[in-house]
Amino acid sequence: MKAAVYHGNHTIRLDEVPEPTIKHPTDAIVDIEYAGVCGSDLWTYRDQGAAAPNRIGHEFVGTVREVGSEVRSVRPGDWVIVPFRYSDGTCGYCRKGLETSCVNGGFWGRETADAGQGEAACVPFADGTLVKALPDGSRPDERLIPSLLTLSDVFTTGYHAAVSAHVSKGDVVTVVGDGAVGLCAIMAAKMLGASCVINAGSSHADRNALAQSFGADQIITSRGDEAVDDVMKLTGGEGSDVVLECVGSAQSFDTALRMCTAGGTVGYVGLPHGVAIDAGLLFRGNITIAGGMSPAHHYIAATMPAVLSGEINPGMVYTKQYPLGDIALAYDDMDHRRTIKPLIRVR
Ligand SMILES: [Zn+2]
Repeated sequence: MKAAVYHGNHTIRLDEVPEPTIKHPTDAIVDIEYAGVCGSDLWTYRDQGAAAPNRIGHEFVGTVREVGSEVRSVRPGDWVIVPFRYSDGTCGYCRKGLETSCVNGGFWGRETADAGQGEAACVPFADGTLVKALPDGSRPDERLIPSLLTLSDVFTTGYHAAVSAHVSKGDVVTVVGDGAVGLCAIMAAKMLGASCVINAGSSHADRNALAQSFGADQIITSRGDEAVDDVMKLTGGEGSDVVLECVGSAQSFDTALRMCTAGGTVGYVGLPHGVAIDAGLLFRGNITIAGGMSPAHHYIAATMPAVLSGEINPGMVYTKQYPLGDIALAYDDMDHRRTIKPLIRVR
């Protein structure tokens, strides 16, 4: 079968790889239908120290082909969402909804050889990992599939920023970042009752338009000190009740902290790169920092009804679709910001 393989700096190739097989009675094989390319895949692509050659991709949906003898929650033919990390569903962390810390869990393409940008994958701990979109396992309406795919990572990550920061009714929320996670955080903040969402840090017209359709009330095109000043002007000099940091760079993190009102909270979900936190800033402003790696599996149940009912359509973050054969082009386009997020049609 074919799968995307990372071969080192800026090189993704569609290689012939072995068909997945059931290795443990708790495994399932999933025939992948759609996959996403994530901002964190882009960090790998840009040679940030990932092993090569290695399978890549961790946002995917598809149909169960085969299950091991101990799998109970899914059966062949079920249409499923696969979270960006697999988890056993039984350990203490899983039971409290922190599946990303699962003691037996792991990342696609690392702890297990299989990954999401390919024709199929063996999924460990199928009962703890896979989530059916519909209770009877049937395939949902085609139009809903991109949005359901976002629940595997990008939307549930933006949602985690907003939930961790306790966005509440009436809050002014500033989202730092114009990537797909930031756009999803805008939508999540509105779902949780924010009265005003400010999106900071983008001067791209297409991203600004999408931010507005996701619910942003104000767009700030500046960055750094200028963006902090702009937020202060919009908030009567007091700062934003909540700031959602969705980039992960040192500058965006610092900007987020300085935009936050005294006693406010910064929710962060951007994978941190070189971030050093000024504890004095937190101390003087009584600012709370919350967030981290989103337990996507935990949030799927809470957010899926809004997708299935059409209340939210986070699948709009996929601004271009590619066949699996064009996976290298999809990475190149995302790397050059020619698309916000690629949707890969596998079959
Ligand atoms: Zn677990």
